[in-house]
Amino acid sequence: MDKKKIIIAIDGHSSTGKSTVAKQLARALGYIYVDTGAMYRAISLYAMRLGLIDESHFDEIALEGELPKININFRINNESGLAEVLLNGENVEREIRTLAVSKFVSKVAAVSSVRRKLVEQQQEMGKDRGIVMDGRDIGTVVFPDAELKLFMTATAKDRAERRFIELTERGDNVTYEDVLKNVVNRDHIDSTRKDSPLQKAEDAIKIDNSNLTLSEQFNQILKLAQSTIN
Ligand code: C5P
Repeated sequence: MDKKKIIIAIDGHSSTGKSTVAKQLARALGYIYVDTGAMYRAISLYAMRLGLIDESHFDEIALEGELPKININFRINNESGLAEVLLNGENVEREIRTLAVSKFVSKVAAVSSVRRKLVEQQQEMGKDRGIVMDGRDIGTVVFPDAELKLFMTATAKDRAERRFIELTERGDNVTYEDVLKNVVNRDHIDSTRKDSPLQKAEDAIKIDNSNLTLSEQFNQILKLAQSTIN
């Protein structure tokens, strides 16, 4: 008999390593992995390119008008085996991870029409279950019926350190202070927005990974997933 397929929702604060563990988990279970943050980042990049958002202004109405023209998809890179996000067919995987995009993404993600568009697409992606999805509202809004919900957190300092290493290792010219400021700022906007604020679903399991190694965390979460499936 086929094994039961479940939905695993991983939410939490910025830079808590959600996507790392979600990817590992999807690989171990043979599930699809969806990085919903990448979808919000891709729409933000689109808005930045059109000059609809910058340090001093954000034309939400114009962005709403553009939404029907924005297509976000994922494609597996045959060499790396990892998913890449496509914005109207263009691979923007690298560009969406810059600190520049991180600076505006939470403002874009607070717009209800943007959320409606992406949530609908995410629900469609998970309709056959067998999916690990990470984000901010997966256990609360996208899949309130997910069989396993995790809520990941760590101190802002630990998270900023990890993100700073990640960005400098790939050659981005950023300061630790700017990365820390961005992490704290995104947490604030994400948790206080009116539509789908970041909050732990009542039935989510909280994981503080400040003092966990990647493999400790993965093993702990894999066990939870396996016991939910079996
Ligand atoms: O996960 P990541 O850090 O790439 O997400 C970038 C931003 O996208 C978050 O700070 C948040 O503003 C937004 N987001 C969201 N809902 C999701 C996923 C991401 O609002 N499900």
